[in-house]
Amino acid sequence: DQLINQIAAGEVVERPAAVVKELIENSLDAGARRIDIELEQGGIGLIRVRDDGAGIPKNELPLAFQRHATSKIASLGDLERIASLGFRGEALPSILSVSRMRLTSRTAQDAHAWMLGGEGKLDSAAPVPAAHPPGTGVEVRDLFFNTPARRKFLKTESTEFRYAQQAVERIALSHFEVAFSLKHNQRRVLDLAAADREATRQARIEAICGGEFVAQSQQLDASRLGMRLYGWIGLPSFARSQPDLQFFYVNGRFVRDRLAAFALRRAFADVMHSTHHPAYVLYLEIDPTLVDVNVHPQKTEVRFREAARVHDLLFGAVHQALRGLRP
Ligand code: ADP
Ligand code: MG
Repeated sequence: DQLINQIAAGEVVERPAAVVKELIENSLDAGARRIDIELEQGGIGLIRVRDDGAGIPKNELPLAFQRHATSKIASLGDLERIASLGFRGEALPSILSVSRMRLTSRTAQDAHAWMLGGEGKLDSAAPVPAAHPPGTGVEVRDLFFNTPARRKFLKTESTEFRYAQQAVERIALSHFEVAFSLKHNQRRVLDLAAADREATRQARIEAICGGEFVAQSQQLDASRLGMRLYGWIGLPSFARSQPDLQFFYVNGRFVRDRLAAFALRRAFADVMHSTHHPAYVLYLEIDPTLVDVNVHPQKTEVRFREAARVHDLLFGAVHQALRGLRP
């Protein structure tokens, strides 16, 4: 059983950033309004994610660590969502199988929290009483302590932390309504207040992309053929030699898409005569039935059914937004 989980872990958790992403997505699914993330040694030593979400009732705690046990398939209507999230009920058992893990949770009705944990597998299926505010806290220590071959593939602590920070930032830029904090080795790296108003959204963009990006970017919002593209694109004065500041979301989900990157870069080059990479934070809203989401949990790729239309919207919208600003 532990072996099966370890094999699954090879798919689901290849590095600390993947653990961070899975845990944050669980917190979001639980309706959290605030998520606090702490890492030590790039996440290899410790990943701790605490949320103020719904919590897990005591009797359901052991289930959370069973493969393919998920509390999230309530109806056929959820199938769409399952397809979009790729896989179900694998993250917690996979992470447990390759780490020393503790999950502490308390629902609004509980007088105190309950904890389950273990090294590679659960110590016991019986939750023990613990202290925790309503919500859930997960601690993952010594990732890959029992799979040294996997452990060897990790990069330096600072590189692993950079990936993990990127994972947090990608999610934070599509969940403005949730507050996030991120610490590394006790140092506060991000502190993002919940942003409901435009001004606070800007503050979050600024915290993640930098003040220069906010100052030197153009806001756009364009709709065509039932699709909408909105967000910010950096001006040529903010062009980058690397494609390192590119956040593109499809229906709220971060994706890496060559077609989109190509359309955006071409529009930028066309208007600005710049061979540099544009910086952007852009959101595409499109009929979900026109998008195929790759079912691999860690892949962030999509396929558009009507690729030419998507290309034309991206190209056209960016072209138009920047045209008046031609240097
Ligand atoms: P999945 O998210 O696909 O259901 P996971 O292995 O990530 O599978 O989580 C298993 C189950 O544990 C979830 O379905 C949910 O019921 C519960 N769970 C995990 N994390 C949290 C959390 N932060 N808050 C509340 N419930 C959680
Ligand atoms: Mg999950």
